[in-house]
Amino acid sequence: MSTKFPLDHFEQLQTPFYYYDLGLLRATLKSICAESKKYGYKIHYAVKANANHRLLNEINAAGLGMDCVSGYEVQCAIDNGFGQNGIVFAGVGKTDWEIELALAANIECFNVESVPELEVIDALARKTGKTANVALRINPNVDAHTHHYITTGLDENKFGIYTWDLENVLNVVQRLKNVNLIGLHFHIGSQITDMEPFRELCSRVNELQKWFESHGVKLTSINVGGGLGVDYSNPDINEMPDFASYFGTFHKFLELRPGQQVHFELGRAVVAQCGSLISRVTYVKNGRQTKFIIIDAGMNDLIRPALYQASHKIQNLSASGAEEKYDVVGPICESSDCFGKALLLPQTKRRDIIAIRSAGAYGEIMASRYNLRKFAPTYYSE
Ligand SMILES: *Cc1c(COP(=O)(O)O)cnc(C)c1O
Repeated sequence: MSTKFPLDHFEQLQTPFYYYDLGLLRATLKSICAESKKYGYKIHYAVKANANHRLLNEINAAGLGMDCVSGYEVQCAIDNGFGQNGIVFAGVGKTDWEIELALAANIECFNVESVPELEVIDALARKTGKTANVALRINPNVDAHTHHYITTGLDENKFGIYTWDLENVLNVVQRLKNVNLIGLHFHIGSQITDMEPFRELCSRVNELQKWFESHGVKLTSINVGGGLGVDYSNPDINEMPDFASYFGTFHKFLELRPGQQVHFELGRAVVAQCGSLISRVTYVKNGRQTKFIIIDAGMNDLIRPALYQASHKIQNLSASGAEEKYDVVGPICESSDCFGKALLLPQTKRRDIIAIRSAGAYGEIMASRYNLRKFAPTYYSE
C-alpha cells in the first residue's frame, strides 16, 4: 500500500480521474531550474505533454518559457502568461493563421522545418511589416533508440530540414528579407533515458556549427529540444530524472561560440511523474490462462500503452499481501485497450482502487471521447 495517495479521499470520488501531485511538480521544477542555471541554459516547457491549467501555473511561476507545436498551443502560451519567458513554435505543418497568430504575439522564435514554410513565414511577416526570428530545425539523423513512433531525428522521419538540403535552405533564408536566421533547432525523440544519443546530438551540433561558420553565418541560439525520459518502472525510486547529468552532458560536449544561448524543450521530464490515472476495479474475470482485472479507465483516458506499447507501473492501492498474475484491461471495445499483461498484483477484488503511475505526460492531453466516454476529471494534492 502507498502512503503517497489519500486513499480515503479517493474512495469517495467517482472514477476514473487524473490526480496530480503539485508538490512533486514543484520539486521537479526546482531541480530543473537549479541544474540548468549552472550553465545559463533556457528551458521551454513543451506544452503538448500536458496543458492542465494548474500545472501551467506552477511551470510559469518557475520561469520556464513554452515550446508550442500548434497555433492553439501558442494561444495557450499567451493566455497563460508565457509570452515574457519566451515562446518557440515548431511543427512541420504550420498553417497561415497559426503563423499570423505567432507573428502578432512577437514570439521568440519560429523553428522552421522546410523551405516552403520559410517562404510563407517571410510573406506573412512582410504583410504586417515584421521580421520573424527563425531557427532551422535540422534533422540530425541521430537514432534516439526509443520507440519508432517517438523517434523524430532520423532521415526517414518527416521532421526538420535534412542535412543534404542545407546549402539550398541557407540560400533561401539569406535571400528572404522578413526572416532573421538566429539559430539552429533539434529534437531527436522522446523518452530517452541513456545519455549517449544526447552526446551524439552534441557532436552533430558541433559539426553543423562549423559548417554554418564556414558559410559566414553567425548563430546566437542553439535549441537542442527535449526528449529526456523518466523511469516508468520505478516512479517512487526515481521521482525525477537526473537533470544534473542531462544538462551536464550538454555542457561537457557542446562547443559554443561566445554569446550563444542554449535552449531546451522539456515536456515529459517535467510532468510525467507528478500525474496518476486513478481507477476502480469493475470486475475480476477468469480467463483460460489469465485473470483479467477490468478497470473503469480505458485507452481513451490514457492511450500510451495502446499507441506506443508503453508500460506504466500499476498499483492496487486498496490491497496488499499475496500476489497473483493479472492482465489489467479497460472497458473499451478494442483489444489494444490493455494497460499491462501478466502483472504481479496483490489479490484484487471488485471496487479496489488502482493507480496507473507516471501518467502526467501525454495522458490527460491525449484523452479522447471514444465510445462516447466522458473526459476524466482532475484532482490535485492541494
Ligand atoms: C514533443 C516535443 C518536445 C518535448 O518532448 P519530450 O519528450 O516530452 O521532452 C520538444 N520539442 C519538440 C519540437 C517537440 O515536438
